[in-house]
Amino acid sequence: MVPFNKPFLSGKELDYIKESVLSGKISGDGIFTKKVHNFFEQQYSFRKCLLTTSCTDALEMAAILIDLKEGDEVIMPSYTFVSTANAFVLRGATIVFADSRPDHPGIDEAQIESLVTPKTKAIVVVHYAGVACDMDVVMDVANRYGLFVIEDAAQAIDSYYTNKNGVRQPLGSIGHLSAFSFHETKNIISGEGGLLVINDERFIHRAEIIREKGTNRSAFFRGEIDKYGWVDIGSSFLPSDIVAAFLYAQLENLEHIQARRRKLWDLYQAGLKCGDSSGNYKCPNIPDFACNNGHMFYLVFDSLATRTAVLQKLRADGFHSVFHYISLHKSEFFKDQYTGGELKYSDHYTDCLLRLPLFYELTEEQVQGVCASITSYFDKSNN
Ligand SMILES: *Cc1c(COP(=O)(O)O)cnc(C)c1O
Repeated sequence: MVPFNKPFLSGKELDYIKESVLSGKISGDGIFTKKVHNFFEQQYSFRKCLLTTSCTDALEMAAILIDLKEGDEVIMPSYTFVSTANAFVLRGATIVFADSRPDHPGIDEAQIESLVTPKTKAIVVVHYAGVACDMDVVMDVANRYGLFVIEDAAQAIDSYYTNKNGVRQPLGSIGHLSAFSFHETKNIISGEGGLLVINDERFIHRAEIIREKGTNRSAFFRGEIDKYGWVDIGSSFLPSDIVAAFLYAQLENLEHIQARRRKLWDLYQAGLKCGDSSGNYKCPNIPDFACNNGHMFYLVFDSLATRTAVLQKLRADGFHSVFHYISLHKSEFFKDQYTGGELKYSDHYTDCLLRLPLFYELTEEQVQGVCASITSYFDKSNN
């Protein structure tokens, strides 16, 4: 069976872990954590980066930083991973779910303004499949109503948004705060791992404290103060330097990994004849303002029945494909508290979207095998 995902070792991971262990300091903020911070701050001009143990933790830090009060509202798409919502639910916020775009699973930016109320505090966007949301629209609403914008950039490493002035902005650099994931299913991995990006200066000082269990230990280690203590709420959000060592080896191979993933993605697009629409399925749509970071190749079918049949056909032919989110407003946890309207496209992607295998070591023959399996399913069912 060709798996859906397989974690890739780029070469130096174990060497760097050894180096980290032999350095004598394997807790957080060691030599490799600093290298990772520098890499992101330089490569993508992120104002300030803090490595976390997961993207979930980075989102939880963001929710603490914007100082949510019970009853504050946070707007986000329903078609997303639970952590996008959970981080804010944990702080007592009320989640206001928006629908997805008709042409893409990302949030329907045009709907956001109609969901703003006097209680709205933040907008959380998710760059689904690493494809940018239309950030000019999002930032414009946020600026007019004084809202914070948090980018859930879990899937969006090394991806860009081209704004209305033609400027190419790295995803994660646009909102006040952003969160990335290095979970083993993402492009660049460390098993579990995440990154909080702070683009708004006002949050930097407090973010360091929250990440260090509510203490000013970071300032103490820099020699800025002579003792440290409990100054705020917080938790243990920083990973061991061993995790950072693994991650740094991956980052050194970022270009290479991205190029490979994009190549496989292009092969899918060609093999599935995405250019000439046969009407059997829709291929991923990359809007002009976005770009493709090769995170995910998916198809959208016309019904749950077709998706199930294609998934079974692929399985019979030895390929593991998987569907994705279930609309959060219909989840067991949330459905009874949901008071909004129908979210038609979110439900459509819930039922009809299927993700195909995509990982560094996937071979070109295997991609062709997946494409042939899908094509033959439709050749048979159309005759
Ligand atoms: C993977 C993912 C997360 C969670 O990342 P972790 O690092 O596993 O906590 C959150 N949001 C989105 C959109 C994701 O794809």
